[in-house]
Formats: sequence, structure tokens, C-alpha cells
Amino acid sequence: MQTLQARGYRVTRPRRMVLQSLEEAARPVSPHEIQSALSSKGGYLDRVTIYRVLDLFCRLNLAHRLPSSGGFVKCSLGEKGGCHRFVVCRQCGAFQEFADEALCREESKLATGLDFHAERHFSETSGICSSCYELRQKALLSAEGQV
Ligand SMILES: [Zn+2]
Ligand SMILES: [Zn+2]
Ligand SMILES: [Zn+2]
Repeated sequence: MQTLQARGYRVTRPRRMVLQSLEEAARPVSPHEIQSALSSKGGYLDRVTIYRVLDLFCRLNLAHRLPSSGGFVKCSLGEKGGCHRFVVCRQCGAFQEFADEALCREESKLATGLDFHAERHFSETSGICSSCYELRQKALLSAEGQV
């Protein structure tokens, strides 16, 4: 919300509602899921408004849209360095955002080599979180036991 105000955007009711809904989500969510979560608490926003708010949040780096699922997450890094990187579990949707300077330097160097001035880094590593990995190993073992 401070980011909004600092950049001259008003904190409207829909903006507050969508941001809070993103804060409460444990995994990337679609606009439809945001709408359902709001209505389960007695709130209502039409889909177009939700899309508009998400679009603004993404432009301001307050939220991100993850390429693998198309779901939205709240940015947890704030203004740090223009870098937003994710690891995302393709099974349960658990995710973490991080920044890494060394990675950034390397990526910018590559960009320079391509005659390009890097301004922002964004990446997503898709895979399996440790708890889903453990579950999978257990399932594999019990499947083997049945043969
Ligand atoms: Zn971010
Ligand atoms: Zn998982
Ligand atoms: Zn960077």
C-alpha cells in the first residue's frame, strides 16, 4: 500500500481487497480464485476490476504473474534491486521469491554480450518442493512393495 501511495496511486477499496487476498494466498492464484476468496468473506469485485488491479500491481512490481501456471503472487521483495526470482512447486504450488546479486551480474553480462542493457531480472524455476518430493518417494516405495 505504501508503494502505491509513494508512486502517486490512490489506495482504493478494490486495490486493498486484491492485495489482501494475494497476501493470504499460499500459492499462485487466478483472478477467478481471488474473486471466490473475496466472496467467501462477503466481499465482491467483478472480474474486470480484478484484472485491472492485477495489471497495475504487476507493472509496479507489487505482484507477479508466474509464467508456468499463469497464477498471481504478491511480491515479497519490495524495491530490492529490480530482481524477482521464484522457485515454484508444480505439484502443490508452494513458492518462494528471492534475489541473487551474483546471478544478476552474470545475466546482465550475458545481456551486454547481446548488445542489450538489462534493467530488470525475472525468472522462475519450476520443480518439486521438499514435502512433495518426500511424498513422491514414499509413493514410489509403496508401489514397489506391491509388485
Ligand atoms: Zn517481486
Ligand atoms: Zn509441493
Ligand atoms: Zn537483477
